[in-house]
Amino acid sequence: MTVDYNSVKFQNIVENIKEICYNISVAKEKYRKSDEIVKIMAVTKTVEPDIVNIAVNEGITLLGENRVQEYLSKKDFYDKRADVHFIGHLQTNKVKYIINDVSVIQSVDSFKLAQEINKQALKNNKVMDILVEINIGGEISKSGIDKLQVIDLVEQISQLENIKIKGLMTIPPPMCSENVFDEMHSIFLDVKNRKISNVKMDILSMGMSGDYETAIKHGSNLVRIGTKLFGARNYMEVT
Ligand SMILES: *Cc1c(COP(=O)(O)O)cnc(C)c1O
Repeated sequence: MTVDYNSVKFQNIVENIKEICYNISVAKEKYRKSDEIVKIMAVTKTVEPDIVNIAVNEGITLLGENRVQEYLSKKDFYDKRADVHFIGHLQTNKVKYIINDVSVIQSVDSFKLAQEINKQALKNNKVMDILVEINIGGEISKSGIDKLQVIDLVEQISQLENIKIKGLMTIPPPMCSENVFDEMHSIFLDVKNRKISNVKMDILSMGMSGDYETAIKHGSNLVRIGTKLFGARNYMEVT
């Protein structure tokens, strides 16, 4: 597929990016210090590489991938400027397929998964950056570590030599109260203030299409946008 630059799809994505950037700048102006940076990630599930590349070409070079299989089928077609993070539930037996292609695994929620990432990273002679995913809403069906176990997990993972913890990620419950975002921010600051060795708390990955402005209000510096960027996905959501 080649991109028709007059197509509705192309025009829409360019417009969507403008709108998102504008909303982010307003939220930053209102709630954050002027020198703070909030990164936009384009979440690519179900979106064809040529469409994703429109966003990359417009400067949204950070991509978020949910599924190993889908990512492997798309990665060779992505614009080479793209920087890819893995954000979906990751099975331990699939770590080896992505270890050399993604720069951050955002969805680490168990020591078992961290150990496998460490093992594969060592094999490939690298240090893998990760975020610890927190199930901040305590929802039974969602991945992420319970908020009460975050410190223990971070301390355990910090012992692994081929992993570096770079921050936290969460998917708050839809339509949840703002307190949930604030609580996540407090946990982020708590971990940061403990100054655990081999842990560098740079990234708070929080906020999606429906709540990114609220997330920015509460300290997020990486928002993950799918629907507002590429349009609605036409399938039952699995995350
Ligand atoms: C799908 C997804 C997003 C983006 O959701 P939208 O509401 O479409 O913006 C963000 N983060 C994760 C982990 C996702 O799976």
